[in-house]
Amino acid sequence: MSTILSPGDVKLRDGRSVDFANLDIAATAPCLRAVADAVAELLPFYGSVHRGAGALSERCTREYEQARETVADFVGCRDGDTVVFTRNTTDALNLLARAVPEGTTVLTFDGEHHANLLPWQQSLHLDAPRSPQEAVELLEWALRRQPCGLVSVTAASNVTGEVWPVAALAEVAHRYGARLAVDAAQLAPHAPVDLTALGADYVAFSGHKLYAPFGAGVLAGRADWLDAAEPYLAGGGASASVGDDLDVRWATGPARHEAGTPNLLGAVAIAAACRALAAADHSAERALVARLRAGLARLPHVEELRLFEADAERVGIVSFAVLGEDPGALATTLGRDHGIGVRTGLFCAHPLTRRLLSEATARIAPSAPVPPQAVRASFGLGTTEAHIDRLLEALRR
Ligand code: PMP
Repeated sequence: MSTILSPGDVKLRDGRSVDFANLDIAATAPCLRAVADAVAELLPFYGSVHRGAGALSERCTREYEQARETVADFVGCRDGDTVVFTRNTTDALNLLARAVPEGTTVLTFDGEHHANLLPWQQSLHLDAPRSPQEAVELLEWALRRQPCGLVSVTAASNVTGEVWPVAALAEVAHRYGARLAVDAAQLAPHAPVDLTALGADYVAFSGHKLYAPFGAGVLAGRADWLDAAEPYLAGGGASASVGDDLDVRWATGPARHEAGTPNLLGAVAIAAACRALAAADHSAERALVARLRAGLARLPHVEELRLFEADAERVGIVSFAVLGEDPGALATTLGRDHGIGVRTGLFCAHPLTRRLLSEATARIAPSAPVPPQAVRASFGLGTTEAHIDRLLEALRR
């Protein structure tokens, strides 16, 4: 497995140096060396994609389209699927929201990340389920009452790390004539997200959570709605020809939604990450999740956030309420005194996180004030047992 680029040691307030424990990988993951190498290799050949002749432009166009094919393989594209490069997951889901045919009813669950909630404000929202099984039952119940064209769900929660039953949801959606879109921002870095295997219709994810740099993301899936939709952005690249009176014939294929000069290095970086992750072994991460959760359970003032049952499958994301501490001050102390980076807040899933904070507080101290924010530790490739133990020890103190 390709190694991770690390920031090296950081200096603590007491003068000691420690290797930085980056436990905020769910926000943005560090870069894989293979990704950095792929980008560095291409830099001398920097040229325009799909615009211009000459060796540089030809090479860049070829690399860009090869990156698209690599991503298509990574997400298990079928005949009739396409891959559109976007800026990130938010952009990808907004693009899909624009491409949904007029009059289509869209259904989501409460508790989604805002990126999979706010583009669908006009849609039907089901209550957040309390188990994967309940998600499937709720969906079936809803689709029996109300025909829908699209169901959009998370594959793994950015708040709890819980994995949603995407294949079962896709099966139910299809039985009722709906398509299923998957927000895989948090699953893709930890497990395969294969449209063919899952039976899902669309998948969206971000390069910067997939051990690649910022600035590029992916929407992959059924091409027909995208091909028929108005271009996401109007401009060069999305237009095949423009008449003297500005009548436009829009491009077909992914170019239709990739107006402007494409982010070649972002696409190449994502492709390199896809190649590296296709060979990744995530079993160590599962052991780290168990280690952290067991350690947190031993701390009397700390309670994890969960929507599903305690034994539900999770990726490397564990959020928790810390009673009697200011979350911001705690995060600062973790950073300055222990060399640990975590995230505090409501994690762009405000209603869900507030609710889970209340429930977590009620489980361990029903009369205690509910903390205004949660603390999230998230990890993946490059995280060690020592990082987890350092966090637990710091919280214990
Ligand atoms: N969905 C989920 C589940 C996420 O965790 C995130 C990022 N926190 C997003 C969508 C949005 O990703 P981006 O900010 O890269 O668009």
